[in-house]
Amino acid sequence: MSTTENIQSVADIARPKPLLIRHAPYFIAAAIVVFLAASMRFDGYILNILMQATTFAIAVFGLSVVLGLCGQINLAQAAFFGFGAYAVGLGTTDYQLNYWLCLFGGCAMALAAGALLGLSTLRLGGHYLAMVTISFQQIITLIMINAIWLTKGPDGVSKIGRPSIFMSSQAYLAFCVAVLAIVGYLVWHLPDTRLGRAMRAVRDNELAAGVAGIDVFRTKIYAFAICALLGGLGGGLFAGGFAYISPDQFSFAESIVFLTMSLLGGVASPIGSAIGTGLLILIPEWLRFLKSVPGLYLAIYGLSVILIIRFMPDGIWGWVSMAYDRLRPPKKVMPSTAPLVLKPAATGDEMVLRVSSLSKHFGGLKAVDEVDIAVHRGSVHALIGPNGSGKTTTLNVLSGLYEATSGKVMLDGTDVTTMPPHLRTAAGLGRTFQNIRLFRSMTALENVIIGAERPGNTLIGKGDHAALTERALAALTFVGLGSRANELISSFSYGHQRLIEIARALAGNPTLLLLDEPAAGLNSSEKIELHELLKRIAAQGLTILIIDHDMTLVSEAAQHITVLNFGRRIADGESMAVLRHPDVVSAYLGTA
Ligand code: ADP
Ligand code: MG
Repeated sequence: MSTTENIQSVADIARPKPLLIRHAPYFIAAAIVVFLAASMRFDGYILNILMQATTFAIAVFGLSVVLGLCGQINLAQAAFFGFGAYAVGLGTTDYQLNYWLCLFGGCAMALAAGALLGLSTLRLGGHYLAMVTISFQQIITLIMINAIWLTKGPDGVSKIGRPSIFMSSQAYLAFCVAVLAIVGYLVWHLPDTRLGRAMRAVRDNELAAGVAGIDVFRTKIYAFAICALLGGLGGGLFAGGFAYISPDQFSFAESIVFLTMSLLGGVASPIGSAIGTGLLILIPEWLRFLKSVPGLYLAIYGLSVILIIRFMPDGIWGWVSMAYDRLRPPKKVMPSTAPLVLKPAATGDEMVLRVSSLSKHFGGLKAVDEVDIAVHRGSVHALIGPNGSGKTTTLNVLSGLYEATSGKVMLDGTDVTTMPPHLRTAAGLGRTFQNIRLFRSMTALENVIIGAERPGNTLIGKGDHAALTERALAALTFVGLGSRANELISSFSYGHQRLIEIARALAGNPTLLLLDEPAAGLNSSEKIELHELLKRIAAQGLTILIIDHDMTLVSEAAQHITVLNFGRRIADGESMAVLRHPDVVSAYLGTA
């Protein structure tokens, strides 16, 4: 095998063949399956199982978006499924409405309910979200059972209609399979879209996602609303398929079944969702012969689910795809030949950053106390001080991770004091973290693409994926890691992970780059490389505010230094003068 087969060029990655051509096999396979579903003569029993599996799988796809991609729990998927089912059920019977209108209405209601639930709760973290979705599920169940005037209560709704072109069960099944194939395709490709990348970033590291310019809250709401929408769609199709629905089909227990399906098959991919759904519907059918022995059936069913999840924590598909990845190492990439251009935007203000009387208190602790910093355009400005003197806290307040107790932050003429992190990033901020915060389930390239997607990065046109990828590769090449763009973060050394973080920030073409101890944890040769890198960044005129302990590096690289001690600014000015300042010497050495 020639080596070129294992090396991808920038053009291969940035401008792949159109999706429809690359994925022609998927569409051909899907068309064959739809044709089979329409033409094979299934008996009623098989037909019911297939109908259930198809409509359930669409709802489980929703969980693969909200939980698999975005890392948010939803324990009310059966309730959203119910929205769709009742809209079609009641709409086509009591209200004599057109099936399509009802299906559309059910999806819209589920979407709206999901978005509203998300709006009210997604600012809360993990456990709270679980509790709120359970409560929502219980409320919907109570309404289905008790609001008899609306839902017909425990009796359920029967004689539910179908569209006239899909009147036979076989034709309706084929229609559901076609919907499944389309939704599956969209969910499968969501991770490679801007929204999908944002969801994965939020799942991997919420703080870093916000600082990279992603609106974390909005991304979570989108994920939640899409999940609810797919729940409603699955439910609407389900109601038409079975012509009868009742509240027990949409209970909390069913939400758990949906969740188990998704975890069992592999929550990260719609293929996993489909496998999990099929298995959880089929296993009870296979074990039917055991039903004569009470309890045994449930025990074996439960045990098999537990065993699969115990030994395949990422689900069946997660396990398979991991094995596949191990067999096929990622392709090397030909480093980018285009230089990385840093063209920071400018308002003309001589100071890129003006921090005045900034304070951050944690209870009684004044971590940052009335600090002023002014950073000249195009300069390297160092922020130094002993451990615990408030340097990281200052950076966290500057980037919006902490709310300032008092004071003001002006970034290139814009008052950003009260902005959330993603808006400050849009206004021109880029940063790295003292404790590295990369998106660990993604490749180096994907991490840097998220950086390049910074809203406010004027170098890249909206939706220009090729330019985005080229810029990300140029940034990775700039820090010396271009050829390893396709590798996962976990395969990089600590020092290289720092470089990827810097590349992620540079790719967004920030106006001001904040670096929090970039040399920490590096060995001496890596430190020298970092030093060279900083020189190359500064040479392009990018303004840098850097926290560092290495006095040689600081004195060589920085023109200005601000010194903190116990949260207070004790010195500020031109580098050499500050380093000789008696207060600074005593803060570092403990004597004057
Ligand atoms: P530096 O980066 O200069 O080493 P930090 O800014 O991390 O110092 O910390 C400054 C002080 O603020 C320390 O005393 C630290 O314990 C405290 N601190 C930092 N973050 C928090 C927090 N989230 N809650 C409470 N105290 C904090
Ligand atoms: Mg620190």
